[in-house]
Amino acid sequence: MDIKKNIQKYRQILQDDRTLVAVSKTQSIETILQAYDSGHRVFGENKVQELVKKFEALPMDIEWHMIGHMQTNKVKYITPFVHLIHSVDSHKLLVEINKQGQKCDRVINCLLQIHIATEETKFGFSEEEVVKLIKEVSPSMFPFIKILGLMGMASFTKNKDQVRNEFRRLKTFFETLKVTSLPDNIVMKELSMGMSSDYTIALEEGSTMIRIGSDIFGERIK
Ligand SMILES: *Cc1c(COP(=O)(O)O)cnc(C)c1O
Repeated sequence: MDIKKNIQKYRQILQDDRTLVAVSKTQSIETILQAYDSGHRVFGENKVQELVKKFEALPMDIEWHMIGHMQTNKVKYITPFVHLIHSVDSHKLLVEINKQGQKCDRVINCLLQIHIATEETKFGFSEEEVVKLIKEVSPSMFPFIKILGLMGMASFTKNKDQVRNEFRRLKTFFETLKVTSLPDNIVMKELSMGMSSDYTIALEEGSTMIRIGSDIFGERIK
């Protein structure tokens, strides 16, 4: 893989106004440094331990994004440095992130993960749950939380129409929330959707942030 060339490809596609999260899970420090040396600074990981290890080993000006499901007891390891948590999927997790944000005096940027796929195995809130949650997330209750938008993962399927419909539905929900009255610590600014196999559709459907792993770094060695 020519990592530099791949990063450049995405830079051209995204044109500065949308964000590329380079998903570096399972990749070595050396491999990540190749992307870093081409000027890229935004990386995503899906496991707390691996994220912390890489944060410690790599340059300080990297923006680290957490994109995977998290247990509440692990939150404290990433709150001191994480730039954005895409995978907030429960009220309980939000409470813990707020608590740990207070401990390190940082407002933690979060996205609410919405369950848009047909697979039961995927995490996330339903739309109804989010509508309910939003009423409970006041700045006085959650002073160390800033919700910046939504994240979703489409079904793992070759059916492009299905993927498009799932993204479209999420975008519609995002736009609906945007025009409702939201507490001061919630804004609908970022819509994180699209991976290597479906980012083209996601961008067409209004994604502001794509999370790309294998198309930049090659197949993951597991
Ligand atoms: C691994 C992962 C990605 C990237 O997947 P690719 O298919 O390699 O691009 C994106 N989002 C999440 C949540 C992931 O876990």
